[in-house]
Amino acid sequence: MNSSANRQIVIVGGGVSGLSAAHYLLQAGLQPLIIEKQGRFGGLIRTDLIDGCELEAGPDSFIAAKPAVASLAAELGITGEIIGSNDAARRVFIVKRGKLVALPAGMVFMVPGDLDGALRSDFFSQSTKDQFLRELALLPRARQTDVSIREFVLDHFGEESLEYLTEPLLSGVYGGDSAGLSAPSVLPRFVEYERKFGSLIRAVREERAAQNSQDTSLFLSFRGGMQTLTDALHRSVLGRASTLEAEVDSVEKTAQGWRLHFDGEHIEAENLVLACPAHVNAHLLRTACPELARQFASIPYSSALLVTLVYDRSELHHPLDGFGFLVPRPERYAVAAATWVSTKFPSRTPADRAAVRAFIVGAEAAQWMTSEDSELIDLVREEYRQRMGISAVPLFSTIYRWPNSMPQYTVGHEARKAAIEKLISVQPGLHFCGNAYDGVGIPDCIRMASELPEKILTRNFGLM
Ligand SMILES: Cc1cc2nc3c(=O)[nH]c(=O)nc-3n(C[C@H](O)[C@H](O)[C@H](O)COP(=O)(O)OP(=O)(O)OC[C@H]3O[C@@H](n4cnc5c(N)ncnc54)[C@H](O)[C@@H]3O)c2cc1C
Repeated sequence: MNSSANRQIVIVGGGVSGLSAAHYLLQAGLQPLIIEKQGRFGGLIRTDLIDGCELEAGPDSFIAAKPAVASLAAELGITGEIIGSNDAARRVFIVKRGKLVALPAGMVFMVPGDLDGALRSDFFSQSTKDQFLRELALLPRARQTDVSIREFVLDHFGEESLEYLTEPLLSGVYGGDSAGLSAPSVLPRFVEYERKFGSLIRAVREERAAQNSQDTSLFLSFRGGMQTLTDALHRSVLGRASTLEAEVDSVEKTAQGWRLHFDGEHIEAENLVLACPAHVNAHLLRTACPELARQFASIPYSSALLVTLVYDRSELHHPLDGFGFLVPRPERYAVAAATWVSTKFPSRTPADRAAVRAFIVGAEAAQWMTSEDSELIDLVREEYRQRMGISAVPLFSTIYRWPNSMPQYTVGHEARKAAIEKLISVQPGLHFCGNAYDGVGIPDCIRMASELPEKILTRNFGLM
């Protein structure tokens, strides 16, 4: 399609970021073309319906506290499809000395929101409990430089909280390398608490007192699975935005804007929105904007492997009385976390089935990424046997491999983000969105996409 017609806007990537970008641009009266390399839209979001089970290939939920998904859902007419997690059964177990131990109630991430409960629980050692009491006396502190999560958590709660709480909680998203990750970028809320209150425990208490209630679901999802969202987005843009199935290989600058090359063809655009992982942006921009490409390439990514085993519930002999378990690094073999899907979202499986989804992340994901399916199933079955005493043969399984899929906000991330923004600001018509910059979750992707029309209209057309 050697198109000489200059398109107003081309979006590269048809995941939730690219689809949301198209949705908001259409709302603003702009006409985008989405180029997606796969035969399907949705990117990491995909729900497979197998034997009555709704099985997620990637994300299974979104954080309720961030409003972007709910407001998009309202615009798409799917508010009624939003479901909460089954919070009556909300309990998380941590593997400690080989056994599953329930995390004390009231934890707000790594902060004991119910301090009395944490002090009474068997989960923490006496020295960690003493540290909680000392933490209450910390004074407000504004750090002048970026700080790793490791250093930040050690300052507040000590080694056990870091290894047995913070790192496992982070592992589902980051693989859990707390020494490399930036506290202000990954846990901005807690860094802000430190700045305002000093003690995170006191901050969480005050916040709770102000909110007066915390009985809402922390995690929300959609009836039918997360793909309900991307399917609705796709339906909303279909017929109004054009789409093209192609893998863009490079982009170059032209007098009028940007030329995108794919499969020996090219297309021109006044405005280019990159809605791909940062390492793809780096590849696309390698010749046109080498310094920008270098900055995108400096955002590291880790990989994930998701293995879901579906059982006949009567053969399981386990109550699945919680949302699942996390495995701290000192206790880990391959599985970093497992979600008891049928408990967290009961509508995902028929009553006589139970699904347990294993996350293998970081170094272990890289190690097992190319293993045969049968090898992965055996690996996960053995871990479920050891951790949960489950020896039943699964009825079936799903395996999803996501290499280089999880951006890591390492120390220096804010500076990298600022450098990217500065370099982009001098490239007329170039824009980006996605989870590599300002929040790794779906709500962050949608929020970033919703900000695009104003950026495009003010920067390029001077229309607003
Ligand atoms: C295992 C896993 C679990 C997660 N769980 C959660 C969760 O529970 N809750 C949550 O909020 N977030 C979760 N996330 C994060 C969430 O999935 C992402 O933030 C979000 O889906 C990113 O969407 P995106 O559109 O930016 O990127 P993607 O979904 O990666 O989409 C990018 C699209 O670009 C296309 N593309 C790439 N290169 C090219 C090219 N050269 N030309 C054309 N097209 C191209 C790809 O095919 C893809 O469709 C999870 C992530 C992973 C990996």
